[in-house]
Amino acid sequence: MKKFHLILALIVASASAAHAQGTTAPLAAPSNKKVLIIGTDGTRPDKLEAANIPNIRALMATGAYTGKAHTRMPTVSGPGWSSMLTGVWSDKHGVKNNAFTGKNYDQYPDFLTRLEKLNPKFSTFAAADWEPIVTGVSGGPLISDSVDAKVYFKGHTAQNDQRIADTASNYLAHEDVDAAFVYFGNVDGIGHSLGPVNPEYTKTIETMDKQVAQLVAAIRSRPTYAKEDWLILMSTDHGHVDKGGHGGPSEVEKSIFVLANGTSVAPQTLPDDTEIVDVGLTALNHLGVAIDPTWSMDGKVLALKAK
Ligand SMILES: [Zn+2]
Repeated sequence: MKKFHLILALIVASASAAHAQGTTAPLAAPSNKKVLIIGTDGTRPDKLEAANIPNIRALMATGAYTGKAHTRMPTVSGPGWSSMLTGVWSDKHGVKNNAFTGKNYDQYPDFLTRLEKLNPKFSTFAAADWEPIVTGVSGGPLISDSVDAKVYFKGHTAQNDQRIADTASNYLAHEDVDAAFVYFGNVDGIGHSLGPVNPEYTKTIETMDKQVAQLVAAIRSRPTYAKEDWLILMSTDHGHVDKGGHGGPSEVEKSIFVLANGTSVAPQTLPDDTEIVDVGLTALNHLGVAIDPTWSMDGKVLALKAK
């Protein structure tokens, strides 16, 4: 954890792996399997696909992708990210707005917290510039303080997205990490201020593409990379109507993309019934976690080769 100290000032919570160990063997343990979920807020699949995104396109070409996946109502960020990261819909995780009232994360934790509960030996990391994802501000955190390291920059601006990319890529390149979530918020910010039809929205997607490249390069630079089996998942929480804004039931608000890339991924066009809840569940499955039926998860495993 040597580099950890360099970014200590940015870390809002660094916790403890102090959960009590049960008497039975852990259900899952760290291995060479690793996962990174990249989240880009409010990113319309049609605008993504039309943009100049060589780095994301390379991941699509060698992996599994669909721009025809869906989230469900309400199409706002609190429920959307909760559904992606917990693998259940809002009737279970309880979040129906951006105030996070009704959250039921004790029963339906995010995938990183789920890993820590199963076995604190998992090394987990999250970085975001939208407060409630990682902090207690505005009703959060979605990702609990049991996660080993959380990085936060205040406000989803262009500058903070770049800080997220820089800090997360430094961490991913050098630290012991099994599972990570990295969030970029500026595409949604521009979607709100200028609308997704504005060329600036496309430009912001193109900047985000370069930030994704930083994360991928960081992973591939790991001294242990050749021995590791990384799964990179990427998705968004909702779209935007043409004039900017979301929350309703229209196709452009409910349509999302899902991308999966890694040695364990069977390259394909993902099926049209791909949904946001599949992302978190696929991450757990890749790490060798047997999905317990009592967890009542709603997602299904995407794209992974049969083990
Ligand atoms: Zn959002």
